[in-house]
Amino acid sequence: MKIKDLIIAGAGPAGLSAAIYGMRAGMDLAVIEKLAPGGQVMTTYEVENYPGFAEPVPGWELMSRMENQARRLGADIRSSQIEGFAWNDAEKYFRVALAGGEMLGARAVIAATGASLMKLGVPGEADFTGRGVSYCATCDAAFFREKVTAVVGGGNTALEEAIYLTKFSSKVYLVHRRDQFRGAKLLQQRVLENPRIVPVFDTVVTSINGELRVESVSTANKKTGEAGTIAVDGVFIFVGYQPNTAWLPRGILAANGEVIVDMHMRTTMPGLFAAGDLRKDSIRQIVAATADGATAALSAYEYLESL
Ligand SMILES: Cc1cc2nc3c(=O)[nH]c(=O)nc-3n(C[C@H](O)[C@H](O)[C@H](O)COP(=O)(O)OP(=O)(O)OC[C@H]3O[C@@H](n4cnc5c(N)ncnc54)[C@H](O)[C@@H]3O)c2cc1C
Repeated sequence: MKIKDLIIAGAGPAGLSAAIYGMRAGMDLAVIEKLAPGGQVMTTYEVENYPGFAEPVPGWELMSRMENQARRLGADIRSSQIEGFAWNDAEKYFRVALAGGEMLGARAVIAATGASLMKLGVPGEADFTGRGVSYCATCDAAFFREKVTAVVGGGNTALEEAIYLTKFSSKVYLVHRRDQFRGAKLLQQRVLENPRIVPVFDTVVTSINGELRVESVSTANKKTGEAGTIAVDGVFIFVGYQPNTAWLPRGILAANGEVIVDMHMRTTMPGLFAAGDLRKDSIRQIVAATADGATAALSAYEYLESL
């Protein structure tokens, strides 16, 4: 087996940025991506806060630019899923297991497998996923032209996606369990000024109901306990993230599954680095993920030089 300098797990903003910096440092590296390169940004309609773009840039365009930049520098981006890895102490390299039984070898690994949107965990959610329940407004909003939808959540992603949905839906209920939103002030202002968005504060969704498709959500007011029903055709859920770290050793993770790193993106396992949304204390933004990826690649370079 030919042993590479570096394997980067995941081709989202963190992984692609690590690949750009790794290639420029002269490392022999491979990036392993289980879906199409681009990560979560591929599900984002527009990005307004990534520096360098005076006008909002479509998520897919930003990511195809990052991918092309990495490929131009010679990065080997492969389509496969990393299932786990083990340290070979005798020969001092990581054996990385891919889906289908293939094995790769590398002296260093950067974990950049990001995070996935969390489920709400209420009755009806699983049954109606793809039939009215969605986790991606960019993908599914057009199915709800002139229909009524609900967005569940109150952070940046929920607010952005609710605004996007108003391009299609005639009315968007924005159901949040607290008495005010958590997202950026500018987004909050846009939401509150949008005549198609109806904020529903202090409220949780307790079930998603319907016959063949979604017809309503049942709600409960957190302060009064009062139960209610809102008639909707679709429900978009943005209630937090789950780090994609099941393939990593438990010993490097915090209790919530995020990877613990230092300021150099080093984990407690020598040669293993982590970057982006999967790490503890990340602000879960593209600009932070790309910065982490650059830091991790340069730290991996220093580590390889020290061997
Ligand atoms: C709807 C939505 C809107 C958003 N809007 C914005 C915004 O406007 N501005 C902003 O800054 N941020 C935004 N974000 C957040 C931003 O997308 C993330 O912070 C960023 O994508 C994190 O990058 P990452 O590389 O760490 O992880 P990800 O983007 O999650 O990329 C990880 C990659 O790893 C792959 N992967 C996972 N497991 C494996 C495995 N076992 N083997 C191989 N590959 C694997 C995944 O397929 C994925 O491509 C938004 C997120 C969402 C969901």
